[in-house]
Amino acid sequence: MSKFLNHNFHQQKVLIRVDFNVPLNAAYEITDDNRMRATLPTIRKILADGGSVILMSHLGRPKDGPTEKYSLKHLVHHLGQLLNGVSVQFADDCIGADAYAKAAALQPGQVLLLENLRFYKEEEKGDAAFAEKLSKLGDVYVNDAFGTAHRAHASTAVIAQFFPADKKMFGLVMEGEVASAEKVMHHSEKPFTAIIGGAKVSDKILIIENLLDRATDIIIGGGMAYTFMKAQGGQIGSSLCENDRLDMAVALLKKAEAKGVCIHLPSDSIIADKFAADANTSSAPSNQIPDGWMGLDIGENACQQFANCIQRSRTILWNGPMGVFEMEKFQHGTKAIAIAVAAATQQGAFSLVGGGDSVAAVNQFGFASQVSYVSTGGGAMLEYFEGKELPGIAAVKE
Ligand code: AMP
Repeated sequence: MSKFLNHNFHQQKVLIRVDFNVPLNAAYEITDDNRMRATLPTIRKILADGGSVILMSHLGRPKDGPTEKYSLKHLVHHLGQLLNGVSVQFADDCIGADAYAKAAALQPGQVLLLENLRFYKEEEKGDAAFAEKLSKLGDVYVNDAFGTAHRAHASTAVIAQFFPADKKMFGLVMEGEVASAEKVMHHSEKPFTAIIGGAKVSDKILIIENLLDRATDIIIGGGMAYTFMKAQGGQIGSSLCENDRLDMAVALLKKAEAKGVCIHLPSDSIIADKFAADANTSSAPSNQIPDGWMGLDIGENACQQFANCIQRSRTILWNGPMGVFEMEKFQHGTKAIAIAVAAATQQGAFSLVGGGDSVAAVNQFGFASQVSYVSTGGGAMLEYFEGKELPGIAAVKE
């Protein structure tokens, strides 16, 4: 039941908040257009209905108003190509007389791209007067930018109050993200395994705490595992460790035990004599890492142990790599997890992968199409699974 697909946009001017925050090189060429491609089905449906599209986005983090480097004009040509030659007009100010005139003159089937919203500091401040000015550009508001859904910015949340309930909705990217996140958070089939990796415990503590009430199993890998190892009295050599989080790690393990959630830590590790691609490597139990060595990936036994747990699962949430997957010598663990998640998915489990580095990993290893859903929003997804209400979702839903 998609509100977006059920809506007929014929003759409507549709103001879409997209996430066109794409990387540009020094010649202002787009080096990765995935975020633009993601929202094409939303744009195409509106154009096919006989509506017109006004796109608004941020690009980078401009500090002092209009800046060449952060101008969305660099995207116009490529967007036209992605839309198979639909002509894309550009307004070099996202509000003001020129933007209003261009929006008013827009014909069904046409697209207008607005200049970077963050050239106005009012955008990030969530300024209501600025949001109201933006709202005048369209008849319908569509939010398709999951990447900024955790921000209460003018264009992502505040603007929604200026549209009636039947004229504000999620686009297809947001609908997909919200549906898969809600499925995992509120309708998970058990066993539910959360795989949490990455560098720091402190970044993931809230998500782990929140998952203690939902998951049956939590796998902890990556650099953060060593804080848990040390907290339990293990020797971790020079592995990554947050010494100010040791008590918290112990408390978390106790809480998990009380709630009957099984925490899986890597029994062994691939260890290295330096943090480098050409380091000498060996393997060791994760709580007996010799001085001068550091754990940079989970070991073979841990891969087996984690894969067994994943293969028993009906719901899987994966955020964060198991090791320094950017270096070939330390990518085996993350790859093994990707293989196990893909296999479980094939057997009918629902798997959601999210967070910048785990998404990069499944893409790099070619597993993106073998999991149920790959989330595009790193920070937004983390905050969602920390149990926070995302302003961009709440504003459209209320
Ligand atoms: P995060 O952004 O917190 O998900 O962390 C991702 C980063 O953690 C990646 O760049 C990995 O290289 C890094 N990482 C994963 N495992 C380790 C480890 N054992 N030691 C140091 N860094 C790690």
